[in-house]
Amino acid sequence: MGKISLLFNEYLCSGCHTCEIACKQEHGLGVGPRVIRVLEESPYFKPLFCHHCDDPPCAKACPEDAITKDSETGVVLLDLEKCTGCNAVSGTSGAEKQGTSPCKAECPAHIDVQGYVSLAAKGKFQEALELIKETSPFPSICGRICPHPCESACNRGGIDDPVANHAIERFVADLDLNTTKRYMPKVKEKKKDKVAIIGSGPAGLSCTYYLAQEGYQVTIFEKDTEPGGMLTAGIPSYRLPREVVNAEIQLIRDMDVTIKTGVDIGKDTTIAQLREEGFKAFFTAIGTQACLELGIEGENLEGVYGGLDYLRQINRGESVKLGKNVAIIGGGNTATDAARSARRSGAENAFILYRRGLEEMPANAEEIKECQEEGISIKTLPKPEPVPDSVFTMEVDAVINALGQEADWACLTPECACTLSDWGTMNVDPLTLQSDDPDIFAGGDAARGPRTVIEAIADGKQAAISIDRFILGRDLRLGRDQVFPTITDPQKEVYNKIDRVQMPRLDPQARIKSFDEVQEGLTEEMVLEEAKRCISCGTCCVQACPYDVMQFNHDTLKAVKRKPIMPTRHIKAPARYFRKGWGLCPSLTNRGSKS
Ligand SMILES: Cc1cc2nc3c(=O)[nH]c(=O)nc-3n(C[C@H](O)[C@H](O)[C@H](O)COP(=O)(O)OP(=O)(O)OC[C@H]3O[C@@H](n4cnc5c(N)ncnc54)[C@H](O)[C@@H]3O)c2cc1C
Repeated sequence: MGKISLLFNEYLCSGCHTCEIACKQEHGLGVGPRVIRVLEESPYFKPLFCHHCDDPPCAKACPEDAITKDSETGVVLLDLEKCTGCNAVSGTSGAEKQGTSPCKAECPAHIDVQGYVSLAAKGKFQEALELIKETSPFPSICGRICPHPCESACNRGGIDDPVANHAIERFVADLDLNTTKRYMPKVKEKKKDKVAIIGSGPAGLSCTYYLAQEGYQVTIFEKDTEPGGMLTAGIPSYRLPREVVNAEIQLIRDMDVTIKTGVDIGKDTTIAQLREEGFKAFFTAIGTQACLELGIEGENLEGVYGGLDYLRQINRGESVKLGKNVAIIGGGNTATDAARSARRSGAENAFILYRRGLEEMPANAEEIKECQEEGISIKTLPKPEPVPDSVFTMEVDAVINALGQEADWACLTPECACTLSDWGTMNVDPLTLQSDDPDIFAGGDAARGPRTVIEAIADGKQAAISIDRFILGRDLRLGRDQVFPTITDPQKEVYNKIDRVQMPRLDPQARIKSFDEVQEGLTEEMVLEEAKRCISCGTCCVQACPYDVMQFNHDTLKAVKRKPIMPTRHIKAPARYFRKGWGLCPSLTNRGSKS
């Protein structure tokens, strides 16, 4: 089918979908939304009126139920009686509400943090979960192990302490994990197009989650025996229980996707063979799985372990006897996880050797603190510089090398035109994640180097958008350079200080006896209390509306739908659009004639 060429007057468009219906009738297109998506991606499309989305994100995000979609007319209604402008009170509103709350802006996946926290504050836990699931398939996982840049950016931090967003996220997500009928986003009708995902870590799974919703036939190829990438192989269960990872992956399996484990791409099959089998696009999300070497004498002696290799064994439930004294070299999450795992496996004296200072350690601050509570000492600044007579000897039973990891690109066989950076990551367009080979995309650690789960999730979603456009032959870049002007500088003096809720944790002595989860989660009362500490920097519906139609009105301190610019001339629609009972575009009938 050829492309549809449409030129229309953006000042008249109300996003009413009438042209979509007419177009469907004229060209016999399968489903309506396909047509409207052509419009959305057209540089001319900028509906100045409400788009009346099928599943309006503004209504989803509103904690006050002030926005509803009328089931009969399909019109999105804003009830100003109920709207509080997200707690805007003249002179005391959290901030100017002219932009995006920093929590959403700073989250690599741009999760609507203020939105879900506001919903949680009202006890609307299910709604909060559904809002998060728009931008992340893994709230129970991220609610446990995300380094939460949203909290570092939180304006409440300038008053007392940041809101405990990720503990709230964990609570609402865990409620869903424990129900019999779990929330699943809508999955569109199955398409014939096949997409291959290489690697089942958070990047690959996230890409799968979004492509499956679009109806693509997605197959994940995973070389390990279990899906999950570092979620299963790297991060130990005392931080991220296996049942949580499995439950969140199960929901993706239930979206009718295929996960083939034990298939090593580049060895068991190749991208060229998969192309022949009809796969239209590839997302290489292979992570960084190969341990970096120390490059020093004795590296291959018995008792010297690669950090990730050691954690893999531990996470498979194998017992690894390290002895009493264990030195761990490195300063990232692999080092702290290896040290804490060694403690739990019986090492009396597990210590970390890190070449820089404590504040420079890349591991999460929370984890460094928990390490210290568990009796792990961190020896900093043993910098490998040749200082005369400074060489010293330590007697240890085992050494764990946790210097870091790099990608193993054996999956790229010579027919692939992709190129690699000097850092061993795949070169991709940062906006579209497309590589030098047009049907190959890459994201997560494979494209960024070792980073975080939430960045991998964000890449998975962006890759899914690109792959969808690539298969449909659309512009990959159009409309994707969105910036989030951040709201900062709240009126601190108008807020009383309120203590941040403290995450209940296992006692350090009890922790080192097992791999049981250390952080026990908040109670409902704690969540309600904590969520109310949010100062609502932005306005939920304004932040949720993808078309900039919802606005904050500084006079009324309430939300408002952007006023249409009235048309300057009347456009006459071709007569053939008036047959079979279809009406004239309401922009023309109701408004065009008034100009
Ligand atoms: C010990 C440890 C602790 C961490 N802790 C945290 C934390 O607390 N918070 C946080 O945010 N981040 C943490 N991280 C980082 C985080 O886990 C990664 O950034 C994230 O998992 C990257 O996701 P990914 O999907 O890109 O790759 P991965 O999770 O590495 O997944 C890649 C997958 O691809 C598969 N694969 C590779 N090659 C092939 C092939 N040829 N064919 C088929 N399959 C292949 C691999 O087997 C693997 O399953 C930690 C990392 C480690 C190692």
